[in-house]
Amino acid sequence: MAQGRRGSAWDWVYPPLCWLCGSDAAWEGGRWASGCDEHMLPDGPVGQRCPVCAGWMPDMLAGASRCAACRRATEHGASFGVERLIVLADYRAQPEVRDWVLAFKHGGRKELARPLASALAAVVRRTVRSADGGARGGDVLVPVPLHLWRRIERGFDQSRALAGALSGELGWPTTAPLARVRATVVQGAAGARSRDANVRGAFGPRRWSFLAQRAVARSECAWIVDDVVTSGATLRECARALRRMGARRVAALAIARASERGAPVESGRESEVASGAVESGYPVRE
Ligand SMILES: [Zn+2]
Ligand SMILES: [Zn+2]
Repeated sequence: MAQGRRGSAWDWVYPPLCWLCGSDAAWEGGRWASGCDEHMLPDGPVGQRCPVCAGWMPDMLAGASRCAACRRATEHGASFGVERLIVLADYRAQPEVRDWVLAFKHGGRKELARPLASALAAVVRRTVRSADGGARGGDVLVPVPLHLWRRIERGFDQSRALAGALSGELGWPTTAPLARVRATVVQGAAGARSRDANVRGAFGPRRWSFLAQRAVARSECAWIVDDVVTSGATLRECARALRRMGARRVAALAIARASERGAPVESGRESEVASGAVESGYPVRE
């Protein structure tokens, strides 16, 4: 589909194509983008963001070390029980990312893991380097496990595909120590409280995963990989399971964060959002 991003003379004769829709890719910042003008992937969530959970913060909190929800959080100082969540976009405020997520997750477009991982990895490099002085080592990627029957239904495991592609981008190994120890209901319509109850105790060590568990226990930081983070209940439960395996630090990466309140919405779409058209048109599932 997309034929490399080198920007050679050949590319000007036959420009690379948008991974999502197959029309000509956009030329942006001195290179070909992964998408066309309509499907440009964002380079990070819009607006003022909490450095810990990537949630939207009002401008008056610019420069604050964490948002109100993270300050209130009792578990490891972050609202999702992970020390940091890095996302590519805000699901609500950046509608362009929704088409990607829907095609990837519900449209069976496994190959989209590559451009999505490439864009997310750029945000990770920028964020982690600025925060940790570039000295990293011993990080591992841990995909949120999908229950077997949902993997059969969907044809592939989207978090595992994303983690594999991120591993190629970041050079961090992927390891799979977690399993869903019981099926959870689809979370599209559930409120935050019921989502919490829905996933409580849903994750545990995968059978015969001794080596993966040891990789987590020995890691500098275990990064949970998920597609869309809504209530954060899934992250919190996965983080608990990883800490029980001996993980010292647990953080998370996701394509998008679906804020339940606050984030500003692209102009022209406020009325859609206010009427619920955007939410109902794009079901968010964990
Ligand atoms: Zn396109
Ligand atoms: Zn926060």
